[in-house]
Amino acid sequence: MNIQGILLDVEGTTSSISFVYDEMFPFVRRELDRFLQKEWGSEAVQDCLPLLATDIEAGSVDEWLGQGSEVDKQKLVSKAVIKLMDADVKATGLKHLQGLIWKNGFHSGQLVAHLYDDVAPAIKAWSEAGIDVRIYSSGSIAAQQLFFGHTVAGDLLPMIGGHYDTTTGPKQEWKSYEKIAREFGIPAENILFISDVGEELTAALAAGMKTVLSIRPGNKSVENQERFLCIESFDQLSLFEPQA
Ligand SMILES: [Mg+2]
Repeated sequence: MNIQGILLDVEGTTSSISFVYDEMFPFVRRELDRFLQKEWGSEAVQDCLPLLATDIEAGSVDEWLGQGSEVDKQKLVSKAVIKLMDADVKATGLKHLQGLIWKNGFHSGQLVAHLYDDVAPAIKAWSEAGIDVRIYSSGSIAAQQLFFGHTVAGDLLPMIGGHYDTTTGPKQEWKSYEKIAREFGIPAENILFISDVGEELTAALAAGMKTVLSIRPGNKSVENQERFLCIESFDQLSLFEPQA
């Protein structure tokens, strides 16, 4: 297998699925009031307010927050955000505000992205061997850059050649992988895609890529797993390294 490019999924592949649920969402709840108090006057937060007003169907910001003190307004916003999170609503304003709080957390070092122990050494070794390593995740490109810029193993961005999210296309559609291969500038058959989701591997295979199924603690089981080459650690990939 002459692998010149490696495309990595994130959740369930480089990092635990639970990081987002057990660390990132609780971080928003914990930091929300402090963040609103500190950043209330910022353009970024003020720009979120109309979006949040729409999320909770409260009409305009004025109708929602009224003429009370800034502290009262912050309390109303905080209450609305917690309510949206409790209901697990995928709302635009909520997403924006969460993004701001995470950005703050990663930049201040309070949030550190999880990676399995074998991931950073493997990415380093691959990139030193001249392999183009890129990321494809449903998380936005901005979120991916924040994540890989602030991991338990430090800033990995210099070793990552590109980022793709769902703006390239759905992860379960073969055309997305065809597009990504074109952007790599490498024949699809020389690109290895690693993911924990069978449907994503099937789509990548249809586009001509090589694939490996990532088995990590806490991942959902994959039907007919034996269809795929399976690894529990990137270390095991040496088995498939380019043959001379
Ligand atoms: Mg995944």
